[in-house]
Amino acid sequence: MNVAAPQNTTIRTGVARVLEQKRRFLVPSVYHFYCDPPLIVRGDGCELIDSEGRRYLDLYSGVGAMSLGHSHPDVLAAAHRQIEELQHTTTIYLTPPMFDLAERLAELAPAEINRSFFCASGTEANESALLMASQFTGREQFLSLDRGLHGRTKAAMSVTQIPMWRTDPFLLNTCTRVPGYDDQSSLQSIERELRTRNYAAVIAEPIQGNGGIIMPPTGYWQTLRKLCDDTDTLLIADEVQTGINRTGTFFAVNHEHVTPDFITTAKALGNGFPIAACLTTDRIADTCKRPAAATYGANPIACAVALAVLEFHQENNLAAEAMQKGIHLEVNLQRLAQRNDIITSIRGRGLMIGVELGDGSNGAAAVITDRVLEAMKDSGFLLGKTGLGRNVVTFMPPLVITAQQLDTACEQFEQVLDSMKK
Ligand code: PMP
Repeated sequence: MNVAAPQNTTIRTGVARVLEQKRRFLVPSVYHFYCDPPLIVRGDGCELIDSEGRRYLDLYSGVGAMSLGHSHPDVLAAAHRQIEELQHTTTIYLTPPMFDLAERLAELAPAEINRSFFCASGTEANESALLMASQFTGREQFLSLDRGLHGRTKAAMSVTQIPMWRTDPFLLNTCTRVPGYDDQSSLQSIERELRTRNYAAVIAEPIQGNGGIIMPPTGYWQTLRKLCDDTDTLLIADEVQTGINRTGTFFAVNHEHVTPDFITTAKALGNGFPIAACLTTDRIADTCKRPAAATYGANPIACAVALAVLEFHQENNLAAEAMQKGIHLEVNLQRLAQRNDIITSIRGRGLMIGVELGDGSNGAAAVITDRVLEAMKDSGFLLGKTGLGRNVVTFMPPLVITAQQLDTACEQFEQVLDSMKK
């Protein structure tokens, strides 16, 4: 993440103007990427277009939200149709798209997960899962993994375990951090905690996104499920980033053959429209009878769009597309890593791949990563950045990207990495 001040003296006027507006009218905690940022004014398929007409291949797709790409005709048609019919009512009135979406999600989720609570962001979906877990168990303690990220409200931030995103000075003291996937003692620590104290739930991402695309070891989730079962603790899978076919299965927990008690989903569900869901079992949902409402939860346009998005995913088998293109991309990147020792690790699944550069512990790798992202942007490719050391170049392109587009991106990535050696 680059700080706002542009270092380029030949800044374009449009950019200069919005940077000035940003300085004067925004809370400065809202950061943007790049020293010399483009002003994005349009999207077209897998590309974004700036105020000067320059096109960029969008390899981060709005942090994994735009799986169908920008201005997808099915999304536009669903949104237009719905806004002309009915724009908004809130959940105190019955509107069809909400129930159709809930039914569709029940069909697509693991067998026992049948119920939805709709809201507008991933944070709220996680907050809802944490709330329902406390209501169901009568317990207030939560466990979460090192490097996990779950949102920015009080409880969601309290279970977030990435220091830069824990900005509240008064986080809840009911949330305990345990070592994450990259530490062999992780499951032992969880077991010790669960056997010494009553926890409402463990919350974890099946693949940690912001933490740097960190994968669990094989069998981790099955053991985790068993530990939770043995101690009557609920299990929340945060699939805000990994959900909706990003990793090659509808939910990433499908890879692990595990059914959690909650699955939270957002981002790609609405392909850029604010819709999120906290999904759970009949057993848990049936106990949640105290009032709950979110003004923009299950907004008819967002639900209609989500239904169109899910239909497109199914008709075009985007799960398989993500899997195949992910393998294609990873093979390309592995080949590139053999020739370039600046790459220390490549991780991920489907079209969620992280390329770690250098050693993230000393800050130098973060500087190189910023230079790589800037150079890629200057040559027309937008990439993401994750990891505790901010040194993991992250590929999360639209699932509809072509193999050829991925190849072009890899070729440019190689050239940029080579130029860093000079
Ligand atoms: N969980 C995960 C895994 C995320 O990646 C994010 C956002 N990056 C969130 C929760 C929060 O989602 P939102 O920004 O929609 O509130």
